[in-house]
Amino acid sequence: MTTAHPITDRLLSWYADHARNLPWRAAPEAYSTWLSEVILQQTRVDTGTAYWHRFLAEFPTVQDLAAASPEQVMALWKGLGYYSRARNLHAAAQHVVNELHGELPHSSEGWRQLPGIGPYTAAAIASICFSEPVPVVDGNVQRVLSRLFDIANPVDRKAGKAAIDAAAAELVHPKRPGDSNQAWMELGALVCTPKNPKCGDCPLVQDCQARATGTVSERPVKSAKKAAVEMQVTFHVTMRHSANGELQWWVERRPDSGIWGGLESFPVHMEEGRRAPNRLDLWGPVRHILTHRKMTAWFSFEMTDGPNPSGTGAWLPVSDDSRTWPRLIAKVIAELQAEAGLRAVKN
Ligand code: SF4
Repeated sequence: MTTAHPITDRLLSWYADHARNLPWRAAPEAYSTWLSEVILQQTRVDTGTAYWHRFLAEFPTVQDLAAASPEQVMALWKGLGYYSRARNLHAAAQHVVNELHGELPHSSEGWRQLPGIGPYTAAAIASICFSEPVPVVDGNVQRVLSRLFDIANPVDRKAGKAAIDAAAAELVHPKRPGDSNQAWMELGALVCTPKNPKCGDCPLVQDCQARATGTVSERPVKSAKKAAVEMQVTFHVTMRHSANGELQWWVERRPDSGIWGGLESFPVHMEEGRRAPNRLDLWGPVRHILTHRKMTAWFSFEMTDGPNPSGTGAWLPVSDDSRTWPRLIAKVIAELQAEAGLRAVKN
């Protein structure tokens, strides 16, 4: 298609007046756009913006990012969660420097060859920075299009996905794909929101089939979720006093793949099920809900002057708060510190 769809023209007129003034939109180039796309997955714009500025200040180029240590990248990512994004970002930067002579890809196909870059991120960067007419489909776009075309098939199944992809491909602007992709996402973020969409403010209200048939609140259709797995998780916290009297604990780095990949943790034992561990010396329980797991966590504490608790790990000062713990451990440490502080005040 060489001319834009009339719906896309209407959308772009709205976008010209309503686009948020986000810093990476000012002068889009591939590296900073890539950072923004990775940081903003699963993260609110206001939180993500601060991290984006920090990353660019610390690693102004892909070469700087590639040269950083994993610990530096993780430390800067701390608090954003979903740490596999940081690991993939770092691995992709190293791939660009080592395999592509430091030059970022110019096409969505090229971006997809990089670790951790899926179709969404590849299309977003290629359309915004290189004007490649490829559609971007994220959760916002999925929701808007499912309403606009009143798509009754579940959007997370083959037929529904195909309908969304076909609509998105038809609606991408041939000459301004970056703007049209961002406009769809913006409409989903600001107007066609998951709950209480502001149809009265929508530039596409006359085109919207779900609005006409009264099915807005039923779109998008999603298939039933799998029930989260119950798990019992026991962390073993072993502490010692070092030769100079410093209180330390034994900390391991989790394997890169799997739960809490690449983060630091106390040695941990996990078991599926609801049955609590059969021990009386455990601190807990602490409930922690992840997307696919419902955890009940317990902590054992032990002082030692014996051998190291495991083959991999290190003794680290308890007072060092620069560790990249899973959120569950960070939450418990904060609670214990608050209790200890309270006791100190009472004593
Ligand atoms: S009219 Fe309402 S439901 Fe339809 S696209 Fe606009 S905001 Fe979404």
